[in-house]
This record gives sequence, C-alpha cells and structure tokens, in this order.
Amino acid sequence: MEVGYPFERCLNYIGGRWAEPTGGRFAPNINPATGEVLCEWPLSTPADVDAAVQAAEAAQRRWRLVPAPERAKVLMRVGDLLRERKEKLARTLTMEMGKVLEEARGEVQEAIDMAYYMAGEGRRLFGQTTPSELPDKFAMSVRVPVGVVGLITPWNFPIAIASWKSLPAIVAGNAVVWKPAEDTPLLAREFVRIYEEAGLPAGVMNLVFGEGPVVGDAMVEHPGIQVISFTGSTETGRIIASKAGAKLKRVSLEMGGKNAILVMEDANLPLAVEAILWSGYGTSGQRCTATSRVIVQRSVKEKLEQMLVPRVEALKVGDGLDETVRVGPVIHGEALENIHRYVQIGLDEGARLLTGGKILRDGDLARGFYYAPTLFTDVTPSMRIAREEIFGPVVSIIPVDTFEEAIAVNNDVSYGLSSAIFTQDVNRVFAAMRDLDTGIVYVNAGTTGAEIHLPFGGTKATGNGHRDSGTAALDVFTEWRAIYVDYSGRLQRAQIDNN
Ligand code: NDP
Repeated sequence: MEVGYPFERCLNYIGGRWAEPTGGRFAPNINPATGEVLCEWPLSTPADVDAAVQAAEAAQRRWRLVPAPERAKVLMRVGDLLRERKEKLARTLTMEMGKVLEEARGEVQEAIDMAYYMAGEGRRLFGQTTPSELPDKFAMSVRVPVGVVGLITPWNFPIAIASWKSLPAIVAGNAVVWKPAEDTPLLAREFVRIYEEAGLPAGVMNLVFGEGPVVGDAMVEHPGIQVISFTGSTETGRIIASKAGAKLKRVSLEMGGKNAILVMEDANLPLAVEAILWSGYGTSGQRCTATSRVIVQRSVKEKLEQMLVPRVEALKVGDGLDETVRVGPVIHGEALENIHRYVQIGLDEGARLLTGGKILRDGDLARGFYYAPTLFTDVTPSMRIAREEIFGPVVSIIPVDTFEEAIAVNNDVSYGLSSAIFTQDVNRVFAAMRDLDTGIVYVNAGTTGAEIHLPFGGTKATGNGHRDSGTAALDVFTEWRAIYVDYSGRLQRAQIDNN
C-alpha cells in the first residue's frame, strides 16, 4: 500500500484552519529505517501557541454546553474513521518512528478502542449523589471540564498516547492544544484530520508543531491553559512540573521506566522466554513499559540463558515495513549513540555480554539507525545498566537467590511503571501483586500490553500520581463540583443546626 507522503509539508491546525507557523520556518521529518525525508513540520513560536489557546478558549465556551452524549457522537465517528484508515495509519507510523507493522497496527487499534470506550463515557461521566446531613437538602457531585488543556506527547506511541489524552479531554467538554513530538508529525496531522472529518467543531482540537523547549514551554507558561498532560522523559517532566507548579497548574506526568520480569525457579521457562523477547525487544526496546531487566533465580539462570540467546540472535532486524522483520530501527542517530554508550558502560562495570552490543551497518541497515538486540548477564542491581533507562533493545539478566530478593531488586530503582512475575506458585503470585511497587503488574505475561480501560501509569519517578487511560483519565481533565440544593425554605447550617 502506497501512503504517498514524501516531501509533504505539515501545517498547524488552529481554530479549524490549517495554518503556516508565524516566522515560516520548517524542519524535516526523517524515516529512521531509511534516512529518507518524509515531510516537513513547522517550527512554531509562542505566538502560534497563543493563537491556539485563544481559539481553544472561544470554542470551549460553546463545547462545554454540548450535551456529553452528543460530544460522544463525534468520538464514535473518530473511532469509525480510525478503523477505516487503520492500515494507512499503521504504515505511516512504521515509516515515521520505526516500530514493525504488526505493532503499529496494534497501536492504531489502541486508539480505535479508546475512541469507542471514551464515546461510551459520554453517557456515563458519573458523579455521586449522597444524603445530606440536613433535612430537605440534596447533595451531589458532578464532573465539570477544566477549560483548555495542553497535551505534550512523545514519539514512541504517537497515536495511542495522543488518543489516551485527547479523547477523554474532549468528551469531558474541554478544548485541546496539542504539541506532538517532532519525530512523528504525520501521525499527529492524520489524527487531527480525523477529528476534523468526524465533525469536531473548530477550535476544540488545535495542533501546534514545534520544539519542546519552545512550543511545549510556551504551553506550560500560558495562563490560558489550565492542565498539562505530559508523557515523555523524567528529565522533561521535572522541568514541566516545576514551572507549572509555580503557576498552580494541574500537571499529569507519565515518564520513564526500568521494568523487570521476575523469573522464579518454578516458572514456565518457554513462556518466560517468549515474554522477554516480546517485551524486551519489541519496538526496539523503546516502549516506556519495555522489559530492561530480567531478575532470575540462580537455579534456572543458565537454562534461561541457553534458551534465550539463540532466540535473541534469531530476531530479524530491519525496516519495519518488511513483515518478516521483528526489530525495527531506533528513533534517530542520537538514540543509537546513547544505547551504544550504555553498552560500553555495562562492559566497563563488569557485566557479561551474551549477544549483541553493536550498531548494525551491513547493507541497507547503513541507511537507518539499527542496534543489535543485546543481552547482558551477571548484572548486579547497583550497575548503571540495571538502574537507568536505556530506551533501546538492551536487556540485563540479574541473578538472585530468593523470591524476596527478586522483589527487593525490582523495587530498588527510581522508576515504578511495570513489572511481571513468572511463577506457578499462587502464594507468590499474591505476595507479588501486593509487594511489587509498580503502577502495572503482570502475572505470567511480559511487562507490556496495557489495555485501554485500565489506568496506565506508574509510581516514583515514573509519574506524579495521575493516570492515563481508563476512567482515571477523566480525573485529569475534570474538576469535581459539589452541589447542595436546599429545598427546606429556611437557613440550615451544616455542623451547627444538627448538633
Ligand atoms: P522527551 O521528554 O524529550 O519528549 C516528550 C515530549 O516533550 C516531546 O513532545 C518533546 O518535544 C516535549 N518537550 C521536550 N522538552 C520540553 C520542554 N522543555 N518543555 C515542554 N515540552 C518539552 O521524551 P522523548 O520524546 O524522548 O520520549 C522518550 C521518553 O519518554 C523515554 O524516557 C520514555 O520512557 C518516556 N515515555 C514514557 C511513557 C509513559 O507513559 N510513562 C510513554 C512513552 C515514553 P520534542 O519532540 O520537540 O523534543
């Protein structure tokens, strides 16, 4: 299938119109598999952000008055259009950020699922009713939109994460200003086109391309934006949180991970191997939930390594558009160098390289950014490769003696996104469900594969207590309003007249 984008120019979408950025500057978007330029995207300015916020403010004043079930009808059409265009979107996704086609299709499906799920919320958006402590008085709470929300998203899940944030924001009656990552402008534009075609009123969704420290920062600073929902690195999240905190803005942060699979001595080892391959090397290790540590009981370590190494070596690396490829490129040259630097650090720290550990430059691979699927063993919990996020196809095996030690090693990192345990022992399963300190826990499955109707996010340096996805996402984009209706016809004083 031809997607036919090369050399197109993406534009901002502000107040329902596709607009050139002020200043007229653009930058290229590169296919990481081939080095080919796919399109140009606007280097927007704070003036563009301001125009988007003004358009959003005007639109939101009307949108909040549209009944939520009517707002939801737009989301239903968004779901239908995403479904119709699934294959084209998936191919574009693969070309823009490199993940293999099968995974790209899965990512688009996630956005489809989210559209239908959040459309359902249009008929729920439940609040509470509760008895008043006073007679002839009614008490309830309702969700109200916050106003204009700012979304700042990363390149590794360019449509899934955008859907997790924009769909609940819109169904709840907010207007959106969205800054996508610079590496995935085409997906952002296609998603916004779908909102437009679905009949979303002008100004409810506004798209401003640009560099994080310019456009993202202008959104964080803008007084017209009440909430910032961000997914990206912990480093950037810290900057955003401190700036927004000073302005008393609500900030929802989803950041890095250092996720582990625990393999106990009674584990189904062939199943654990499949999970390590899928969660460790899928999306070339560039998922926030990617497995980067395997914490294994020493008694099965050697057997696990013997099973794993040939399978890692058999993973075909290449352009994700080739359906036989299992591991695509990483996002850009800088990421490639960073991954290689970590491999050197691991070697210097005394970790033993079982396979991989090199940049791939043979034949066609020289045109893109490819790293060999890499497996270290005899890694200790204090090594940097066991503690810092690498965001590439590098997995470290950490041997431990006991279940309790495995849990302690899992928890002894600054991040807390996802963890998994392989065991047949029901007692250990329940202890792990209680004691693993991550926001997501899997039993007998890898660390990736979140479903859209459950809350997504993590603890410690991964997040700040908010969640994407599921109904929890509505908490980010709504305020609770407590309402009391006194129908007694007299002044009734709570805590005084009834005590
Ligand atoms: P970044 O933090 O660099 O970028 C994320 C977004 O923030 C991009 O849109 C970026 O813009 C923008 N940005 C950058 N600097 C600023 C700033 N000063 N102010 C406002 N916005 C800014 O992360 P990456 O895109 O490199 O994504 C990879 C990282 O994200 C990994 O560490 C990964 O673990 C994490 N991640 C976490 C997820 C989670 O749910 N926990 C999910 C996905 C990724 P630009 O593109 O222009 O740089």
